[in-house]
Amino acid sequence: MKIIIYNEIEDSSLAIEHSFSFEDGSDRADIQFEGNLLKVDNAGFYLQGVADVIYNTICDRCGGTAVLKLRADISINIERGLPITKPVGFAADEHEMSDEDGDSFYSEPDSLDLEELLRQEVILQVPAKRICKEDCQGLEYKDSPEAEITPINSLAALKALKEK
Ligand SMILES: [Zn+2]
Repeated sequence: MKIIIYNEIEDSSLAIEHSFSFEDGSDRADIQFEGNLLKVDNAGFYLQGVADVIYNTICDRCGGTAVLKLRADISINIERGLPITKPVGFAADEHEMSDEDGDSFYSEPDSLDLEELLRQEVILQVPAKRICKEDCQGLEYKDSPEAEITPINSLAALKALKEK
């Protein structure tokens, strides 16, 4: 957990370098973030930077381990305070949450949970197709002919060639 207390930010921007890991089911991500938290106005901040991610997951094709290296660009508006939930039937206004607000993150009024923000952003940027390597041939290929060639078979094959 990395919590940034807004009141402790003295200048209009704060340089941030932070490394951490998180797990998501059987997946695991190691994240190295470098960027800046910029003060926009009293109501909000803007986080900008780059997250280098090593994402360990399961290959969609062969079920083996897939290690994805990602570089996620982070640029997100941070709004202090949670979105106000309105009673049903309340007239919608321009601040109502919609899909178009997807690039906003709502923090606590006085602090930001940096790891939670980055975790959400990284999960969004992990590709849907997760394969261990470009040319992974999937399950059937796992029992490749290569693995089946025992020394004896090789010898027999050599013999057969010589006898020709
Ligand atoms: Zn694979």
